[in-house]
Amino acid sequence: MPGYYIWTIGCQMNKADSERLAGLLDQAGLQPVSSVDGASVIVLNSCVVRQSAEDRVVGKLGSLKALKRARPDLVLALTGCMVGSEREKAALAKRFAYVDAFLRPLEFGPLLDIVAERGLGGDVQRDCLEMAARPMRVGEEHAVGLDLDGEHDGGIPDALDITPAKWVPVIYGCDYMCTYCIVPFRRGRERSRPLAEIVDEVKGFVAGGAREVTLLGQTIDRYGNDLPGRPDLADLFDRLNDLAGLDRIRFLTSHPSDMSERIVRAIGELPRVCEHVNLPVQAGDDEILARMRRPYKVDEYRRLIDGIRRHVPGASLSTDVIVGFPGETRAQFEGTYRLLEEIGFDVVHVAMYSPRPGTHAARSIPDDVSRAEKKERLRLVEELQAGIARRLNQALLGQTVEILVEERSGGKWQGRTRTNKIVFFADERDWLGELVPLRVSHATAWSLQGELVAEQAPAPGAWRARVARPAPARGAAISLRLVS
Ligand code: SAM
Ligand code: SF4
Repeated sequence: MPGYYIWTIGCQMNKADSERLAGLLDQAGLQPVSSVDGASVIVLNSCVVRQSAEDRVVGKLGSLKALKRARPDLVLALTGCMVGSEREKAALAKRFAYVDAFLRPLEFGPLLDIVAERGLGGDVQRDCLEMAARPMRVGEEHAVGLDLDGEHDGGIPDALDITPAKWVPVIYGCDYMCTYCIVPFRRGRERSRPLAEIVDEVKGFVAGGAREVTLLGQTIDRYGNDLPGRPDLADLFDRLNDLAGLDRIRFLTSHPSDMSERIVRAIGELPRVCEHVNLPVQAGDDEILARMRRPYKVDEYRRLIDGIRRHVPGASLSTDVIVGFPGETRAQFEGTYRLLEEIGFDVVHVAMYSPRPGTHAARSIPDDVSRAEKKERLRLVEELQAGIARRLNQALLGQTVEILVEERSGGKWQGRTRTNKIVFFADERDWLGELVPLRVSHATAWSLQGELVAEQAPAPGAWRARVARPAPARGAAISLRLVS
């Protein structure tokens, strides 16, 4: 059976797209392999949110050149946010002439055609590719840049495994045009999937063993705006909350301007919706926010956080911040620093501003904060956040938390609390897919260690026995485990 290998970098949406592609290649009759050496089809799923991510993709492409020269029959494809308009595809084809196909995010049809033409696999159901036919944005043809990397980086899928946690894209694209961001140019206009379709997909995942889903969107809280009857994220939560067998519902990423009180209340009231909100603030200064084209003020953001804390007891909060945005003075940066100090997020994803060709900021605002100053601001935020996160995590010492066990690596089981804290524990029995109680024994800024509370633990191995089947369900029950 011909093998395929998918390398993924970037945000969770990329990881979800890779899972979807893996499902399609499975259906075509190919099998996943754990290294490029045994693969007949290699796909790089790229990210260009920041220059550093783009550099990694270019490096990976370069490293495959010799392999392709030695094995001309190998199918090598590039997808993800590095691939833009037809004009940009032509430029990529010139630069990387040894690559067989350049596919925009979710544009998997041409790859499946090549696979069929070369006799590597059969035909597959392509209904789920409809969303790829997305409207172009005005000006998109002129965007030439790339984007995404950093703290969200995935890496090489080193193994296939059944998993109790699934990604579910519910809204594609983005209608905001933050001046620094390439995503709308690459992922197109906002479009929500019909609610019933999502519920059906999640039912299928649950039937395949999933206990947790993470609903994905660049602006998840805008879900439904473009659908008839305008259901919102709270409606979707409500429907999924009723699904028997589904224990946890997560969601990423929320935009401060769309996080309604209705959604916040739903998070607090629906038992299966996890109390973790990722709410990127990007900057703690009104002038910088306006120049970023983020349509809220710092005080409005503060009130939103207060509302979440009021309605969702025990909520954990994470945010994204860009330091060194063009024109950001030291005093304006200090505004961001003080806001992070005041709110005390559980996690802060911080990045140095990286101009992305084609975006408004790259075209019109000089990148005038020096690299040394950006690095210093990054360091200050990282240092501040390490202290805050350590304090918050150490407050959990001795408490019992429940995790869903997602994988085993380095001899330890690993899972996350409802509040998205990573916890490790050692035990020789099979805990994959179980909701296990752990007493927190060690806490750092980044993760927790725990000890199994044996008297409250479920039976080990039960989940794997339940989901075990002779052949994995196509697409649904199989997923790629991504490691950095
Ligand atoms: N949709 C989300 C939002 O509204 O914030 C974020 C999506 S973006 C793909 C992920 C993160 O990358 C952003 O929150 C931002 O902090 C960072 N990012 C995007 N463009 C960037 C740039 N040009 N330079 C540095 N960081 C950037
Ligand atoms: Fe990019 Fe802004 Fe859209 Fe987020 S909301 S994806 S930062 S344009």
